[in-house]
Amino acid sequence: MDKKIDLKHLNVKAFARDGMRAQGEANWVDFERLSDLAWSGEGQNALSSQVSWSITGEMVPVTGGDAQICLHLSAEVSLPMQCQRCMGPVVVDVFSDQSFRFVADEATAEAEDDESEEDLLVLTPELDVLALIEDELIMSVPIVPKHEICPDSVTLSAADEAFEEALAAKPNPFAALAQLKQKPH
Ligand SMILES: [Zn+2]
Repeated sequence: MDKKIDLKHLNVKAFARDGMRAQGEANWVDFERLSDLAWSGEGQNALSSQVSWSITGEMVPVTGGDAQICLHLSAEVSLPMQCQRCMGPVVVDVFSDQSFRFVADEATAEAEDDESEEDLLVLTPELDVLALIEDELIMSVPIVPKHEICPDSVTLSAADEAFEEALAAKPNPFAALAQLKQKPH
């Protein structure tokens, strides 16, 4: 891309009009509110994770009206968190895929919000894309982060083995019973 884009002060209107696309990576530690959700407890070491994002601008034609200014945003990050089931470290893959439509003012946004598939934003001369990416990722973070399968189940089966070994060392009650049954009456 030839044109330099200022992500903190994006001219959305021009971006959409030119059908531009931008993508990049950022360290999630730079997203202060997002990193507040991360967990850096014992065993958690996925600290080098990057936020990958892309934005695409689009003018959507409207019959008998002005074309709509739209922005499609997708972002993802692997966020280190604490599993709420086993309380161990878990890396949660957070994705966001969202389209925004820009309207003239707050009143329009409120009036049209219910019937709109996209999120409505008020058009400003400068949009902070990084803040928007952060907002979207934060909203996509699971409220209760947890492993699909907790690694604790592994420790548990290991514990079971130890338990069974201990059990095997003792005389088997069933074997004793079988001996009992074999005794002649
Ligand atoms: Zn877990």
